[in-house]
Amino acid sequence: MASTGTLDISANVAAVRARIAEACDRAGRDPATVTLVAVSKGHPVALVRAAAEAGCLDLGENRAQELLPKAAEAASSGLIPLPRWHFIGHLQRNKVWDVLPHIAALHSLDSVDLVREIEQRAGGLDAGIRLPRYPLPCYLEVNVAGEAQKHGVTPDALPDLLRAAQACEAIEVRGLMTVAPHLGDPERVRPVFRALRALAEAHGLDELSMGMTEDYPVAIEEGATVVRVGRAIFGARPA
Ligand SMILES: *Cc1c(COP(=O)(O)O)cnc(C)c1O
Repeated sequence: MASTGTLDISANVAAVRARIAEACDRAGRDPATVTLVAVSKGHPVALVRAAAEAGCLDLGENRAQELLPKAAEAASSGLIPLPRWHFIGHLQRNKVWDVLPHIAALHSLDSVDLVREIEQRAGGLDAGIRLPRYPLPCYLEVNVAGEAQKHGVTPDALPDLLRAAQACEAIEVRGLMTVAPHLGDPERVRPVFRALRALAEAHGLDELSMGMTEDYPVAIEEGATVVRVGRAIFGARPA
């Protein structure tokens, strides 16, 4: 067992789950409707193992270069059951075929070009045999706050992306995803979560991937069905 220093992953997971339950309580929701994705980016497989032992089998990674060796190491180290990897970062088109065989969901579908690439690479029966999840569950990433440096489509461009994704046999559209701006006070990002929910409802989509360490309780109050939590579980990421 590799040392994780003073970090107690199972206590952290328990604390996050308790806050999820409290937020659900406030919102009159069943905690079973919220999936916790533990974001392990920047951390070694020893911590992934600790999270898995604490019951977190949904793990989030945002870079192909990090996901591929980590998924391979987790598999070869005999981690049972194997985690389900969620890809949460911008996926470059030239990484699609490397990444697809490892992931249970893509949270960052952010362009029609990426839909086309997935269609080309994963279309057809052959891919269904080779990929763990086919069609691939996807969330369409929306840049609700219109921040210049962020990926994701603007709300105006969402209908085109949604149409392309729904027409693609290799993709199962689950819902919408957003990365909220860092504003310090989670109450200030509540309108962003509310806007994502309104967009999802307007397009008949049920699932919402939103909320991170700083704001996941508020995201749950606003309807998140998936929260992506890194630091509250694994501590600060090594620089
Ligand atoms: C890193 C990351 C997270 C987790 O962030 P924390 O603040 O560590 O909880 C969630 N979503 C995305 C897209 C990320 O890149």
